[in-house]
Amino acid sequence: MKEIEIQELQTWKDQYPLLNKLISMDEVFWLNPNVEKFQTGIKKSPLTQEDVRDAEERLKRFAPYIAKVFPETKGSNGIIESPLVRIPSMKQSLEQEYQQPILGELLLKCDSHLPISGSIKARGGIYEILKHAEDLAFQHQLLTIQDDYSILDSDRFRTFFSQYSIAVGSTGNLGLSIGIISAKLGFNVSVHMSADAKQWKKDLLRSKNVKVIEYEADYSKAVEEGRIQADSDPTCYFVDDENSHDLFLGYAVAASRLKKQLEELEITIDENHPLFVYLPCGVGGGPGGVAFGLKLLYQDHVHCFFAEPTHSPCMLLGLMTGLHDKVSVQDLGIDNVTDADGLAVGKPSGFVGKTIEPFLSGNYTVSDEQLYKLLKELVDTEGIHLEPSALAGMIGPSKLCTEGIDYLQKHSLTEKMSKGTHIIWGTGGSMVPEEMKNQYYQKGLNLALDKQK
Ligand SMILES: *Cc1c(COP(=O)(O)O)cnc(C)c1O
Repeated sequence: MKEIEIQELQTWKDQYPLLNKLISMDEVFWLNPNVEKFQTGIKKSPLTQEDVRDAEERLKRFAPYIAKVFPETKGSNGIIESPLVRIPSMKQSLEQEYQQPILGELLLKCDSHLPISGSIKARGGIYEILKHAEDLAFQHQLLTIQDDYSILDSDRFRTFFSQYSIAVGSTGNLGLSIGIISAKLGFNVSVHMSADAKQWKKDLLRSKNVKVIEYEADYSKAVEEGRIQADSDPTCYFVDDENSHDLFLGYAVAASRLKKQLEELEITIDENHPLFVYLPCGVGGGPGGVAFGLKLLYQDHVHCFFAEPTHSPCMLLGLMTGLHDKVSVQDLGIDNVTDADGLAVGKPSGFVGKTIEPFLSGNYTVSDEQLYKLLKELVDTEGIHLEPSALAGMIGPSKLCTEGIDYLQKHSLTEKMSKGTHIIWGTGGSMVPEEMKNQYYQKGLNLALDKQK
């Protein structure tokens, strides 16, 4: 779909009145009318628990290799995982700021501090490249499932992989993840970066021998160009962020790891102890995969919400209209310009939208100003520094408790909220250079001060 005719747009607005606010780039809160009971929803799914388990096993096979080549993962024996922490001071601050009690506990999942690439992309991105490497090595009888995969850290394997190349389009963090792991294995890797991508991410990749190609256009264009380049070269493997099942499964493995962490913290999730998870959404693979994995484990006891910038509400638009990847925010005159670079996506993944539709509770949007203010507040209250994109989930519990009353009533949750748990998925930030961290913080501080005047 290109530019939408004025008359057609009016028909749409009549059908979906929320579009007016979306187009004005106001913050919105949307409940998914197509959410289903897990047992009926799962019947429509192209992916299963078995697929997620397979991905989990593959990551275990690679753990000895990861531990060897990325020493920062030694402590976790080569498993790439992030902390789950309680954030009680931030909770107090949110309650004060939004004049709204948050019933239940508030925790932060610190994917910002995932080793190797410092964002949620260290899950899906790294997983997909490992799977590709394993496929190639199996095909050429260089590796068997029984081997200790640390043998991949050798000139023999690096020379073998150097005959192959990898390409990916990215707003930054996926490129970082794919670039680092591909170069480590020995692949030739090209990252096609959208205009939003931060300079430090490009510099870091170039320092690791990754080819970085820059575009003036947005994410969809970078992906398209990457795909064209890969298509012309049979030895090139394209990581397709818009359609990849492997990326999605890599993200989904997060769920079983989270379950263990919740148990260690003695947090119960069941019929009477609901779990709410708030996930920043770009093209959809990261939040979609994590939400899918969580639904497989906790079924109707977990409630997942996606969060997008007011200037890039692509998944919300695709889900609400049912058009998925056949519509972009630009079609409606929304500019897709946001400082939340990880979420600067104008057109969602159709695969993710359709897969997650029966499972997603809702979706809301957040302004860039809010992201900066929340960023500053999280540093002040908990000493944790995230990148702007990663704060999109933070406002979710306050919004749910005010704008999601219908949802809570419909699912008989109102009485259970005080025994519930809210998890904010903090999707990135630990690798942001110190100087930029200070700039982000300063921006949040200025916005907070402006408001007090
Ligand atoms: C990529 C990214 C997301 C969202 O993931 P998608 O798969 O694009 O939906 C969220 N936060 C950060 C920091 C990211 O880099």
